[in-house]
Amino acid sequence: MRIAVVTVGDELLAGDTVNTNASWLAERLTARGVRVERVTTVPDRVAEIARVVNEYRAEYDAVIVTGGLGPTHDDLTMAGVAAAVGRELVEHEAALEWLTEHGGYAAAELSEGTTDLPARARMLPNEVGVAPGAVVEDIYVLPGVPEEMKAMFERIESEFNGETTYTETVRTVEPESELVGRLHDVQEMFDVTVGSYPGDDVRLKLTANDESELRDAAGWLEERVEIADEAK
Ligand code: ATP
Ligand code: MG
Repeated sequence: MRIAVVTVGDELLAGDTVNTNASWLAERLTARGVRVERVTTVPDRVAEIARVVNEYRAEYDAVIVTGGLGPTHDDLTMAGVAAAVGRELVEHEAALEWLTEHGGYAAAELSEGTTDLPARARMLPNEVGVAPGAVVEDIYVLPGVPEEMKAMFERIESEFNGETTYTETVRTVEPESELVGRLHDVQEMFDVTVGSYPGDDVRLKLTANDESELRDAAGWLEERVEIADEAK
């Protein structure tokens, strides 16, 4: 399964808020074997949200959108997603019912628009906050508040699946530029992909669908690169 994550919010683009939702989602999805192929941040503007979501739903198996839910003036995500799929925003019966029955709110207490979702969406209850999420076609709309987003994701995470992958890291003191040939060779010889991440040492991250293939590839590399001290 290949998916895209879209995070919505001017505060993310301004650097006021660190985009922890994107990294948390990417980690959880990757751990399930799902390939996260895009993480994009868009401003609080209906047309921008609609354009990016529409492009990604055509390209990926699913799109996860977070942030900008709720009834305040800068909460435009539901309108953007509705526009992307060409549906109206309508008051959602099940959302209203859930908030009045489980959420402990009287209908009159809820700000106008709180329960508006794209027509015929599947409502996702918000167990931590107020604004409901939604699933429309293959678009999953989650809140921006990290605790709310995580709780809602955990309700739906079983809908995201992929092949199990195994990873192993080999750390070397050699500079990246000198490793090119061996990194090429290991990927030719074994069914693995290798990411190279320079820092104090260079971390070579091997990923494979088969555990013994991974072990063989890591062993092959370990014999041919100069291993970093702590990793010896
Ligand atoms: P609410 O219903 O409370 O309005 P929301 O779903 O509309 O929530 P936002 O208004 O976008 O979410 O953001 C609410 C809070 O969550 C803000 O404090 C924001 O900084 C934080 N937040 C939003 N998006 C992210 C993100 N991608 N990573 C981390 N924090 C985020
Ligand atoms: Mg908001």
